[in-house]
Amino acid sequence: MSTATHDVPALARALGIHDHPRLVMNPPHPEGLSPDGTLAVSANPATGEPIAAVRTETRDSLDATLGRAHRAFLAWRNVPAPTRGLVVRAIADEFRRLKEPLGRLVSLEVGKILQEGLGEVQETIDIADYAVGLSRQLPGLTLPSERPEHRLIEQWHPLGPIGVITAFNFPNAVWGWNAMLAAVCGDTTVWKPSLFAPLTALATNHIAQRVASSMGHDDLFTLAVGPDDTVAKPLVDDKRLPLISATGSCRMGRLVGEAVARRLGRCLLELGGNNAAIIDASADLDLAVPAVVFGAVGTAGQRCTTTRRLIVHESLADEVTRRLVKAYATIRIGDPLAEGTLVGPLISDAAVRAFLAAVEAAKAQGGRLLCGGTVARVPGLERGRFVTPAIIRAPSENRLPIAHEETFAPILYVFTTRTLDEAIVMNNSADQGLSSAIFTDSLRNAERFLAPAGSDCGIANVNAGTSGAEIGGAFGGEKDTGGGRESGSDSWKAYMRRQTCTINHGSAVRLAQGITFERRDEHPQG
Ligand code: NAD
Repeated sequence: MSTATHDVPALARALGIHDHPRLVMNPPHPEGLSPDGTLAVSANPATGEPIAAVRTETRDSLDATLGRAHRAFLAWRNVPAPTRGLVVRAIADEFRRLKEPLGRLVSLEVGKILQEGLGEVQETIDIADYAVGLSRQLPGLTLPSERPEHRLIEQWHPLGPIGVITAFNFPNAVWGWNAMLAAVCGDTTVWKPSLFAPLTALATNHIAQRVASSMGHDDLFTLAVGPDDTVAKPLVDDKRLPLISATGSCRMGRLVGEAVARRLGRCLLELGGNNAAIIDASADLDLAVPAVVFGAVGTAGQRCTTTRRLIVHESLADEVTRRLVKAYATIRIGDPLAEGTLVGPLISDAAVRAFLAAVEAAKAQGGRLLCGGTVARVPGLERGRFVTPAIIRAPSENRLPIAHEETFAPILYVFTTRTLDEAIVMNNSADQGLSSAIFTDSLRNAERFLAPAGSDCGIANVNAGTSGAEIGGAFGGEKDTGGGRESGSDSWKAYMRRQTCTINHGSAVRLAQGITFERRDEHPQG
């Protein structure tokens, strides 16, 4: 047995899912969907070995799940928001208690290093804490009415059961962003997780619902594991879900966006990114280089906010690439649960093939491979999906079409520019608009990057990398990233419906815009 095969039954016991009716230990099939579609078999990407499986939904059971989520909503919406916050507070405490085993399961199932697995659960705890505070706010507005003896207000009401579709790379936190806010907003959630991470989803959803049930609230959090055709698509088409919050590729976002628009539902889309960091001539390289390394190779390049393009002032390009190559040489690739590992495996063999194909395409397009770009052999984990993170320098005219694609793997394309204007144009040339960064010691350049004609992304950082956002701010991006905002700030508004109310406390009918509408019997209007 390989070193990365960790004790799944012990984790399942610690998380309280060992006797869950949907959990199947020792699945009789390799990873992916079983031939009859009834099992989603999860594998450890560090070994390729199946670790356990989750029973999938049928059309009928999905319909029943949606019905339960809807009925639970009808009751939950009447619970006062601060009381809803108490339930979320208890859920946060339970995730705090179970952070270690849950973080470990995240690492085991999707291959991110343990520090990042734990950090992901911490993100769910953070957003839950944030949601608890929010449960005492959810503020509406009082506006001046133009009519005497009238009051004009806006208030926010629960929206309904929310459909949440998540990507493989944040199998716990993206649910947390949605479900914790939705819960204090008075909504229930139906979660369709990635088929690469059904175990983390089962554990995460079960922990939250176990707490909610113990406080008398059934079916606040429901789970629908299964293939896109029989589970995800019917969910997207279901009118009982007024909002579909979907995280994943731009391809998926287009399909989901169109389907939801057809039924005039609401969509919150968090899609792909092709993020750039700019290093200008004044940058502090002791700060910039480590930030770029983490941004480019963290989570093995499988973050939506991964730094994929580096745009360096020509005076620093050689020095920056020299330092990057040196730093990459020290990165330990291997078992994500082992101490000292910085880069774990990619999620699948297909991801490894996409990585190798992108490296070949870059070379064919004139890019110079400075390091990495190969399959990595990790002793004892020969069937793991490991690669060596690549740095590719674009040809002098900066033409490198492959850099316009989001290859979900650790490839950093390096471009050189002479001016900040040129660098900003290049930053904004991606189809997506998720995250961006500038490393500079020039106040003027920092402000130009943040000005309306600067970065066109949803996230724009100064002397901080493209990845690793905190939960306090709104998270999301423009253009092909889909325009949605999740997590902090006023993202909660997406999970509620706004109601504008006019209250007449006088005794006369008064119309807006000064319109009079009185019967004039002597001059009847035709
Ligand atoms: P993916 O698009 O393959 O799958 C994402 C989810 O969508 C899965 O649950 C999948 O089953 C579901 N899905 C796919 N087709 C669907 C359809 N037609 N209808 C309904 N659901 C469908 O993405 P992935 O490979 O799991 O994740 C990687 C992608 O996610 C990258 O592009 C990454 O940038 C993006 N991502 C974005 C964010 C963000 O917040 N912007 C966060 C994480 C990941």
